[in-house]
Amino acid sequence: MVKQKKQKSLDPGKLLYTKKSGWDGISKTATKEIMDFSKGYKKFLDDAKTEREAVCVIEKLSAKEGYVNIEKAKKTDKKLFINFDNVSCVLADIGSMDFEKGFLMVGAHIDTPRLDLKGCPLFEAEDMAYLKTHYYGGIKKYQWVSRSLALHGVVITNEGKKVNVVIGEDADDPVFTINDLLPHLAQDQMQKPARKIIEGENLNILIGSIPYKFKHEKDSLKKAMMQILNEKYGICEEDFISSELQLVPSEKARDVGFDRSFVGAHGQDDRVCSYAAMEALFRVEKKKVNKFVMFFDKEEIGSKGNSGANSNILERAVNNIINLYGKGNYNTLIKALENSKFLSADVNAGIDPEWASTMEKNNAAKIGFGVCLTKFTGSGGKSNSNEAHAEFVAECRKAFNDEDVRWQSAELGKVDQGGGGTIAMFIAEYGMDVIDCGTAVLAMHSPFEIASKADIFHTFKAYKAFFKHV
Ligand code: MN
Ligand code: MN
Repeated sequence: MVKQKKQKSLDPGKLLYTKKSGWDGISKTATKEIMDFSKGYKKFLDDAKTEREAVCVIEKLSAKEGYVNIEKAKKTDKKLFINFDNVSCVLADIGSMDFEKGFLMVGAHIDTPRLDLKGCPLFEAEDMAYLKTHYYGGIKKYQWVSRSLALHGVVITNEGKKVNVVIGEDADDPVFTINDLLPHLAQDQMQKPARKIIEGENLNILIGSIPYKFKHEKDSLKKAMMQILNEKYGICEEDFISSELQLVPSEKARDVGFDRSFVGAHGQDDRVCSYAAMEALFRVEKKKVNKFVMFFDKEEIGSKGNSGANSNILERAVNNIINLYGKGNYNTLIKALENSKFLSADVNAGIDPEWASTMEKNNAAKIGFGVCLTKFTGSGGKSNSNEAHAEFVAECRKAFNDEDVRWQSAELGKVDQGGGGTIAMFIAEYGMDVIDCGTAVLAMHSPFEIASKADIFHTFKAYKAFFKHV
């Protein structure tokens, strides 16, 4: 053991680590800033209910900030938008630093748990028409019945025509629903474990009951439904096979609580970090460092597929950028990736007093106490986790402290309780430093997730501080 020189003793107030609430001691102006930030965020949630809609909204909002689609960009353009298959995208703000020195990157995901239509969804039963679904991501199936649902997505016809579908968002639109069983006859159902109360094959959407030509006969409801869809969208039943149609809650994002301190909405995992990262990139002042935000798809189903983080999509994005400026060679690409620093911007779970026994209080996220910095995710024994190095944790921590960000160290759940992963481990494969950093939410993956407006705002501030200082 090396003998250490005795250090000067610290101010007693600085000896202990205490988490600080985002609402404690703040001014009226600061409160207004927090509330106003959430207005833009709620609009983003309403306009971007699917990953495809998110890509469109991000392209539109970034165009207003001077971002140019890389396909039309010239060498003199420094703010770039890159679209990957309309389901994933990148915003890059190019500085004067050599690409070999890397980028500061924030990566969030724009897909969210929901119900997807099957390839052959249409059927009729008891003279009513239904669509079959296959859920996407980890949901509690019983939460999706007896509520109003909107249908969003695209259909590609045999001729290659793309049809955009949004039904259930306007006040005049019809909505769709999945029926639960009445309690009077639910003796057997109520004995079942929660995962069997509603099973995957029960998630059938009610869509109509007036038969074709007002005459009940075989397939008359299927014909009637396809006639409506054909008149409105020019599609036939086979077109469902080449479609991506999703059912999401039809409600708009709302303020929650007498004091309006929360936002309630479907899909905040992970559109909260997506929005905060986009805004941080727009609002941070120009520096020579290269900055980059990536909005991934497929996170909720394991990040596989060519639009997910477990593909070479990040590499392709960086390659496209360095190519534009004539620096496209393998060495520059590999060095740029290796020397980048990456915030894996995804949500964490806040302590809910109703379910506090699943959390370990010292290390769980407190709602309203700022953005979470999560050194590792995964489950029991840190398995399947990217664990950030202490040096990188310190860099981020200092950046947040320097910018007065309310932040907290947060782990997901008790050690042996379960756990979850993010894109962090896939990104770390390039050799760059990666850490998880995002907003804590309540009721994650439910049709109505809750986030604190203070935490949403400090997530934005944290990403801005990262771009400024790291
Ligand atoms: Mn997520
Ligand atoms: Mn999730």
